[in-house]
Amino acid sequence: MRPRATREQLDFVVGLLQHHGLAPVSSTIADIMTLITEGSGTPDLAAAVEKSPGVDRVVVVPGAQRLTSRVFRPEDTRVKVGSGAETVFGGPEFAVIAGPCAVESMAQMNAVADAVVAGGAVMLRGGAFKPRTSPYSFQGLGLAGLALLAEQRRRTGLPVVTEVVTPGDVECVAEESDMLQIGTRNMQNFDLLRAAGASGRPVLLKRGMAATIEEWLLAAEYVMHMGNGDVVLCERGIRGYDRGTRFTLDLSAVAEAKRLTHLPVIVDPSHSTGHPHLVGPMSLAAASCGADGLIIDVHTDARNALCDGAQALTGDEFSTLMGRLKPVVEAVGRTLSPPHSHSLAQV
Ligand code: PEP
Ligand code: MN
Repeated sequence: MRPRATREQLDFVVGLLQHHGLAPVSSTIADIMTLITEGSGTPDLAAAVEKSPGVDRVVVVPGAQRLTSRVFRPEDTRVKVGSGAETVFGGPEFAVIAGPCAVESMAQMNAVADAVVAGGAVMLRGGAFKPRTSPYSFQGLGLAGLALLAEQRRRTGLPVVTEVVTPGDVECVAEESDMLQIGTRNMQNFDLLRAAGASGRPVLLKRGMAATIEEWLLAAEYVMHMGNGDVVLCERGIRGYDRGTRFTLDLSAVAEAKRLTHLPVIVDPSHSTGHPHLVGPMSLAAASCGADGLIIDVHTDARNALCDGAQALTGDEFSTLMGRLKPVVEAVGRTLSPPHSHSLAQV
C-alpha cells in the first residue's frame, strides 16, 4: 500500500482478496504497509488489486520466502538499534558488536565494557540466559544478569544485545535490552520466533548449526510475518566433521544470503572458530565477502570466564583487530561505524 493509504483502502483490498479465497496478513515493514497472501490468485485478481485505491504495487514472489526476499524489497534494509538508533546494520557502515559470552558479575562487565568501548565497538553483547549444551554448565545469571547488562547500557551509552531462550522471557528481555538474540539452538523454535516478532524489538537471528540457508531465511520470515522487519541475520558456523575448529564458518552463506534477502547479515567469528587466533583472519574475510558487521567475544579475564573463555579476545587483541579491520572495510567500499559520541570512549 502507499505510505498514506487509508484504513478504508486497506480494508477494501483485504475484502477483495478474501472474496477470492485468499487469507491476507497485514503488517508494516520498513514503513510500507504490506499484505501478504498464501496462494497466488489469478492474473485478473492481481490486476484488480493493483488498480484499487491506495495500492502501490503487487509483487509476485516465487518460492517460500516472501517478506525476506530481495524480490519483494530490492534495496538493503537498515536495522536501527538503540533508543536513539545509534547503531545501524545494513547501511554503508560496518558495525561491530563485542562483549563476553556470558554476563558474570558487575566487576567483569565493567572491565569488559570498558575494553570494548576502547576498541571502538558500537554495541555490547552478553548472555544472561544461556542455552547450554550440558545442564551442568553455567546457565547464566538470568534476571540478575539482565540488570547488570542494562547497567552497562546506562554507563557506556552502548546499545546491548542479549539472548532470549524462551517465549515467556521475551517481554522482560525486550524491556532491558535493545536487541533480542535468538541462538543457533533455537533458530527453529517457532513460538520463540513469533514472540520475538511480536515484541517489536530488533532481532539478531543466528543460523542454526545444521540449518540450510533457506531454513535460516524462513526463520527470519517468522519474525517478519509478525510485523517486525528489524531482523539481522548472523552466520555463526555450521557443523562439519573437523574438530580442529569449533564449527565450520560458512562465508559463502553470507554472500548468498545477501543475494537472496535485503536483511543485514553479520558474522560471529568467535563461536564459529572457537579459537582467538582464527577470530582476526575470519573477521577480515567476513568484511571482505560483504558482511554488514561482526559479533565478537571479548573477555578481560578469559582464564576464569564461566563460559567460552577459550575463544575470547583480550581487550588489546580486540583493539588491534579493529585497527586491522578498518582498511579492509574501506577496501570494499564501507566505513567502520565510528564509536558513539556519548560512549565512554569519548570521555
Ligand atoms: C552466544 O552468542 O553466546 C551463543 C550461544 O551463540 P550460538 O547460539 O551461535 O551458539
Ligand atoms: Mn558463547
